[in-house]
Amino acid sequence: MAEKKTPQGSNTLAGRLARLGLKRDADFALHLPLRYEDETRITALADARPGIAAQFEVEVVDSEIAYRPRRQLMARVRDASGALSLRFLNFYPSQQKVLQPGVRLRVFGEVHEGYLGPEIIHPRFHPVAAAESLPEGLTPVYPTTAGLGQGTLRRLIEKALARIDLADTLPPELLQRLDLPGIAESIRFLHNPPPEMAQAVLESRDFPAWRRVQFDELLAQQLSLRRAYLARRARGAPTLLPTARLTDALQKALPFTLTGAQQRAWREIATDLAQPHPMQRLLQGDVGSGKTVVAALAMLHAVEAGHQAALMAPTEILAEQHYRKLAAWLEPLGIEVAWLTGSLKKRDKDAAIARVGAGETPIAIGTHALIEDKVEFARLGLAIVDEQHRFGVRQRLALKDKGAFAHQLAMSATPIPRTLAMSYYADLDVSVLDELPPGRTPVTTKLVAEGRRGEVLKRVHDACRAGRQAYWVCPLIEENEVSVEANVSVANVKRSGRNQNAVLQLKTAEETYARLVADLPDLSVGLVHGRLKAAEKAAVMAAFVRNEIQVLVATTVIEVGVDVPNASLMVIEHAERFGLAQLHQLRGRVGRGAEASACILIYAQPLGETARARLKVIYETTDGFEIAREDLRLRGPGEFIGARQSGMPLLRYADLEDTVLVDKARAIAEDMLREAPQRAEAHLQRWLGGREELLKA
Ligand code: ADP
Ligand code: MG
Repeated sequence: MAEKKTPQGSNTLAGRLARLGLKRDADFALHLPLRYEDETRITALADARPGIAAQFEVEVVDSEIAYRPRRQLMARVRDASGALSLRFLNFYPSQQKVLQPGVRLRVFGEVHEGYLGPEIIHPRFHPVAAAESLPEGLTPVYPTTAGLGQGTLRRLIEKALARIDLADTLPPELLQRLDLPGIAESIRFLHNPPPEMAQAVLESRDFPAWRRVQFDELLAQQLSLRRAYLARRARGAPTLLPTARLTDALQKALPFTLTGAQQRAWREIATDLAQPHPMQRLLQGDVGSGKTVVAALAMLHAVEAGHQAALMAPTEILAEQHYRKLAAWLEPLGIEVAWLTGSLKKRDKDAAIARVGAGETPIAIGTHALIEDKVEFARLGLAIVDEQHRFGVRQRLALKDKGAFAHQLAMSATPIPRTLAMSYYADLDVSVLDELPPGRTPVTTKLVAEGRRGEVLKRVHDACRAGRQAYWVCPLIEENEVSVEANVSVANVKRSGRNQNAVLQLKTAEETYARLVADLPDLSVGLVHGRLKAAEKAAVMAAFVRNEIQVLVATTVIEVGVDVPNASLMVIEHAERFGLAQLHQLRGRVGRGAEASACILIYAQPLGETARARLKVIYETTDGFEIAREDLRLRGPGEFIGARQSGMPLLRYADLEDTVLVDKARAIAEDMLREAPQRAEAHLQRWLGGREELLKA
């Protein structure tokens, strides 16, 4: 939501408040303190202890803007016991205006021994009258934004609190059962703690008033997810009744039998498809667990029932690969599969679109070209999105609109930790492939310092001579390697940074390729990267599939989904730059055949702390769930789910790891929607106001 423009412009008060999401009284009331400061006492300057925040009452001696060497505002102040300096490296003219000689101030901050004697850097301060009384309770400190002072924010919150009706959305019996205090008293308490409150108690997240706020926040989240789920369920969808003619035929034709997990997932999906409301299911399974065949069965189920099915993949390479695999499985059964990507010749594309529109082609596979406006399905019964986390909200929505009444299946290899599954994905039903097809040999992971590249080359060489194949993944380009001219605006840096990034990435890929061609003269080396035309990409991949290319140099375009069982080596250069999920995905490209496979992570020293932690995790475990849990721990839930992309507001007070509270909130959300819809509505209004729409994406 950061990009969202405010009509007021960002430098007005309204603009600043909007940046904090503060508009309605309820927003202000729920804008709770980050921490508290003790301004109930005045400390004499002579008694100040370094490193301990305290409040002083002083008189301004003088103030000036100094250059030493940076422009800064310096004020000399004193009380009866001593003197010190206040130093501001960033300041507003209004602050400078207040600091006139003779003005009496209350100053809050930590005293340090500065260059010119004791000083406080960036103290909070406000002018006071001679005998102004001290606050009786702790002073809340609110999250704020540049140019919006604590005083202003506090006054606005006070006003909102005076006006607002904080009627409880939970009945007293329920509060008693949950052992939680009322919401009005909790909120008022947190904004205006009574005098006797100890700071440590008040700042503890287990404090009852905070527990209540956390619970309400989680409840709002659960209500909103649950409501979106129910709304979708209430929509009609075609009841797809199978004949089992095609699904049986496919299972007979496959060179393998389904794993137990695949059978279970397939049964769950088939049951959903026969319901008169849209399926909303996530098929989750580690890389290589065999999601594609389950998708194929689901599509055949739709076709048997007289409907069409669509499968959308995030990259051309993946879409093409799905197309080839599915066409090879389905066309022998007499099922035509259409192929739709942005790079098709217009004539071919128009023809494919026309056949899909007329209902002549039962199955369509493609990239986001599938959701272009022109593509109209005659009878779309099932829409499948592969690697769903890679798509933006808008694209996912568009596919939904295409088949507003279609069943939907999302597939993902990024395992969702239980805590997230219970909250952010609570509106989806989930099938899990928790078993890999038999006959896989585990992938060995090796960490190799850059200096030992020669050994890696030898290993690649030997494997390829023995008939195997290898991937060689080029380093990611890090943002900070991209040279940026000084004095450009942030937006420009971002824009040009990204372009330069792509250019550099290409350069690295080409250099890596040239080096490997020279280092491995008797092997056939190929190159695939994002800048290639789709047809060129496809040709390279096809050559790799046919083992005409033995070493495939690649950028992360091969990160998801590529399936070449004969490839048994995965080399990743500058592995320290990759994220955990990415490394796991890349490693999942090998170990798909019967041959023992290895993933070699080449890293450059020195390793940063997080990079070291990531490499340790990937080295020690191959379990996708475990890796996802670690990823979550290292990055935090917001990053993990790509919150900005999903449009999901993050939790401010509650913690997703607090599974006990999340469980309670979920159970109560269900009851509340059934038994007290008005209270549920009031609760959602209070917490989410107009923002709920985003959650439905
Ligand atoms: P992912 O879940 O990563 O998308 P795929 O669907 O690409 O996995 O399957 C990985 C490989 O395993 C493919 O070559 C596929 O044909 C094969 N496969 C799938 N199911 C089975 C099975 N039950 N037994 C043996 N091999 C299977
Ligand atoms: Mg896949």
